[in-house]
Amino acid sequence: MSDEVDYDVIVIGAGGSGLAGAIWAAEAGCKVIILESEDRVGGSTALSDGVFNAADTSLQRKLGFTDSIDEYYDYYMTLNAWRQPAALIRTFCDEATPTVEWLISLGVNYPERVAKKPKQTVVVGSVDGGGLYAAGVEYPPRGHCPAEGGSIYTSLMDNRRAVLGVELVLNTRVQQLIVEDGAVKGVVADGQTLRSRAVLLACGGISHADPEMIHTWFPDAYETLPPGYHPTGPAGPGHRGDGVHMARQAGADIIGKNCGLATSGPFLPNAPPIWHGYNPSSVVYVNVKGQRFAPETAPYAVMPGLVKAQGYNCWGVFDEAARLRSDPTGSGYAHGWDPQFVLDSVARGDILQADTIEELAVKCGTRPGGLRTTIDQFNEDMVTGHDRWFLRDMEALHPIAQGPFYAFRYGNSTFVVASVGPRIDSGAHALDEDGQIIPGLYAAGEAGAGVLGERYVGGGNGVANAITMGRVAGMTIGKDLMGK
Ligand SMILES: Cc1cc2nc3c(=O)[nH]c(=O)nc-3n(C[C@H](O)[C@H](O)[C@H](O)COP(=O)(O)OP(=O)(O)OC[C@H]3O[C@@H](n4cnc5c(N)ncnc54)[C@H](O)[C@@H]3O)c2cc1C
Repeated sequence: MSDEVDYDVIVIGAGGSGLAGAIWAAEAGCKVIILESEDRVGGSTALSDGVFNAADTSLQRKLGFTDSIDEYYDYYMTLNAWRQPAALIRTFCDEATPTVEWLISLGVNYPERVAKKPKQTVVVGSVDGGGLYAAGVEYPPRGHCPAEGGSIYTSLMDNRRAVLGVELVLNTRVQQLIVEDGAVKGVVADGQTLRSRAVLLACGGISHADPEMIHTWFPDAYETLPPGYHPTGPAGPGHRGDGVHMARQAGADIIGKNCGLATSGPFLPNAPPIWHGYNPSSVVYVNVKGQRFAPETAPYAVMPGLVKAQGYNCWGVFDEAARLRSDPTGSGYAHGWDPQFVLDSVARGDILQADTIEELAVKCGTRPGGLRTTIDQFNEDMVTGHDRWFLRDMEALHPIAQGPFYAFRYGNSTFVVASVGPRIDSGAHALDEDGQIIPGLYAAGEAGAGVLGERYVGGGNGVANAITMGRVAGMTIGKDLMGK
């Protein structure tokens, strides 16, 4: 084979990581092409709320917060029980800050305000209007949220791509790498061969991969579901696990089991296929003993782990008064419930109904005495205004006292982010099972494994991973290929 190349770099995927990687490689002088399987750029990044986690940024300073990258690194590693690779996470935390400043220089506008989730919101999700907010359990807040959502990143990066003359080909799904003598030298897409000196896997995760791959790599997504159900979620349609197949072909060490995010929420398998996230807020989430196990407003940085710790056997319990008060207003892609929706869900078998708490407990398979005690304590705490065990703010909540009573399954059933792929080093090089760099192969975003852990540290983890590590990959490729 000749060593002649069509491009210096082929980027697979035109989402957050791919666009960032392509731009930074092109800035270093590389001739770059992006191949995208879908009919538009953006991927999950464009569908996201756009929250981006970073520390010690200009926005934090403008709003009067003092932060440090050391503290962010400590927070990130602590939430992940220090199991993520230290050098990689240190680079990620270090580079997230200049990445946010670069995005601002491209035109991203983070409103200069401290944003908060509405009080008592039990659904995951970010804030309306954008700003800086605590996207996990951190202080000071590190979630940088553009008013327009994640599509602003991909449209501004796509503008920059065009200015730099980076080619983009849509509707082209790459399925194979060219591997010669252990080095990656190009790709095959739609039967056509393109040769290059470097290939960047930026093709997202496995959310829509075949069931076998999800079973193998994200077994938790199945654990939460009753038998016969398949995990679903809002990730971009291109997340089919192609990066895993291609990286394996090059001999990469594939890692990332259960890394990413399956968010907690009501499991309503027979409801129309939109996300009915907003269950009533005067609700308790209980386990098989009928006991609460967390404040119902716990952030999604921690709730999925708490649900997992209950063996996924959790229920949300509310009463007739809450049904009548339920508010159809949703936010973003999460839809509100209304009183009729609850009755329809009962008829569809998604919500259980009973005249007494004890009968409801029997239907759920939880302990009747345990659930009775829990409801009594919740109602007593309502009177004192102090949630004795979980310190939930009781303002604007109501007792659970008026029959009939209702229960829905509460689980980690919305499959959003799944980062499985080649193990990467802190320069986004793909590594083989001996920890050696695979020449010519790089990976970033959900396709590059190691940054996202089993604990999603809060809204902002996924977008920050995609754009930061895409930028890091582009800079590394620039150094490897151009010496700069
Ligand atoms: C609804 C939603 C909301 C979210 N909100 C947030 C948030 O606010 N903050 C946050 O941090 N995270 C959020 N996330 C997660 C975050 O958006 C993702 O983790 C991140 O954007 C993934 O970026 P990526 O570059 O890895 O993938 P993508 O941006 O999806 O890019 C991958 C691209 O590769 C393409 N592709 C796939 N296979 C091939 C192939 N074989 N050949 C060519 N192209 C291919 C895909 O079509 C896609 O365009 C959200 C996710 C969703 C779905």
